[in-house]
Order: sequence, then C-alpha cells, then structure tokens
Amino acid sequence: ASREAHDATSVVTAGSLSVGGKQVGVMAGPCSVESEEQLMTTARAVKAAGATALRGGAFKPRTSPYSFQGMKEDGLKLLAAARDETGLAVVTEVVAPDDVDLVGEYADVLQIGARNMQNYRLLEACGKSHRAVLLKRGPSATIDEMLLAAEYILDGGNPNVMLCERGIRTFESHTRFTLPLATVPYLQQKTHLPVIIDPSHGTGHTALVPAMAKAAIAAGADGVIVEVHPDPEHAMSDGYQSLRCEQFEEMMQQCRRVAEAV
Ligand code: PEP
Ligand code: MN
Repeated sequence: ASREAHDATSVVTAGSLSVGGKQVGVMAGPCSVESEEQLMTTARAVKAAGATALRGGAFKPRTSPYSFQGMKEDGLKLLAAARDETGLAVVTEVVAPDDVDLVGEYADVLQIGARNMQNYRLLEACGKSHRAVLLKRGPSATIDEMLLAAEYILDGGNPNVMLCERGIRTFESHTRFTLPLATVPYLQQKTHLPVIIDPSHGTGHTALVPAMAKAAIAAGADGVIVEVHPDPEHAMSDGYQSLRCEQFEEMMQQCRRVAEAV
C-alpha cells in the first residue's frame, strides 16, 4: 500500500465507479436495502443527482442481535436490479468469508465494514476476489493497522482497494464518532490507495453530513460514501444520519462547486 511502491494514486474502477482519478467518486444509497420500492426510489434519485455508485447493505453487521440484520440474498438481488436499471455500480457489505463469492456475484464493490477491519480471514477471502474492495477503518484502529489490513487484501492478489475513513471512537459523545479529516492528506502521503470519507457514520447526524462531505472534497478525498433514504424517519437502520433524496441533491450541487475550486 506504500506510496513508495507507486508514485501516482491508484485508480480503482468498478462499473460506473472510478476513484483515484480526477473525478470524486460518490457512492450513495440507503444504509440497508429494505424493499424494492425503497431501493429503486433511492437509486433513481441518487443517479439523477450525480452519484457514481449505489450503496446499500444486504448483510448488516448490527450492534444488537435484535436489530434488523438485512435482507441478505434477496437484498443483493434488488441491488443488482437497481444496477440494471440505473447503470450504477453496486457497493455492498460482506460480513463473512464464506459469503464473499455470493456477494461478489451481485456486487461491483465488496465493502468490509468497520467492525470487520481486522477480520483477517475475511480480508484474505476478499484478496482472492476479483471485485474491488472498500475497506472501512475500525472505530478503534490506528491508521497503521488499517494499512496493514489493506495489505492482507493486496497480498492476496487483489490490487483494487479503497480505504475509507468513517470516524473513530473518542471521548466526544455529541457526534456518533469523531471524523478525522486529516486522515485524507495523511493517507495520501503514506499510500497510493484512494481515500474515501464516510460523513454519515462519521457524524451520526443528517444535519452535519453535507458540511463534512464538502470538507472531505476540499481536503482532497478521492470519494465520499453517503447514506440517503426516501423516508429517513422510517428507515430500518441509520435514519438519523441519512439524507432525504432532495437533501442529497442539494449537497451534490454544493460538492460540485467545491470540487471545481480544488
Ligand atoms: C454501513 O456502511 O452501513 C456501515 C455499517 O458502516 P460501518 O461499517 O462504517 O459502521
Ligand atoms: Mn449505516
């Protein structure tokens, strides 16, 4: 992953998504796939607003075993149908090594969630996949630990890895996590892998998301991943940090102005 290995930032391409080049990649969609209507409404809206990939969880790693665990393969099928209609690449989480092949049949990008950043069997399985990987930082992991986690995937033979800062655990409790944007320029010195910011999990509040997305782009992030839901009050997960479709559109207009300025 070291910058010394490659001078230029690696470009990771997966269907409609390209990150690491000039364009900022924008992955947007619901935290969880909940229904055909919810997913298609969101997919059409984020596509129209300029997103370059659709995110949505089908296998959900929930803190409580009593919370909604995702639609699993039925959710993957809905994501593939949304890609067929909109042309958007699909980014979705895989939580177990044995599911990597199944998720890879439907997804363009395998997301490794924060809770699984150091699940080494999962990292190795994703290293053998031909799908691109979005590796999220563990909430208590150091940057060096994240880079070593990325090495497991690269060393397995998969060069298409993106690193995602999604906030870390600190003493501060007003935001869900603390989002260190200095991770962007720091990682760009250390590694050639593209760097993505997740302002949704990083803040845990809808109202804070657009400002942090703009700040991430101003700081030089190669992409952002943002939760969007047509009806956040009734979302089955993370509604409190999801943008409504109209809010996402407005954020995208502002982000384009920031991207032009940097
Ligand atoms: C998610 O993207 O919905 C998610 C569960 O993120 P994280 O792994 O960063 O908590
Ligand atoms: Mn979420």
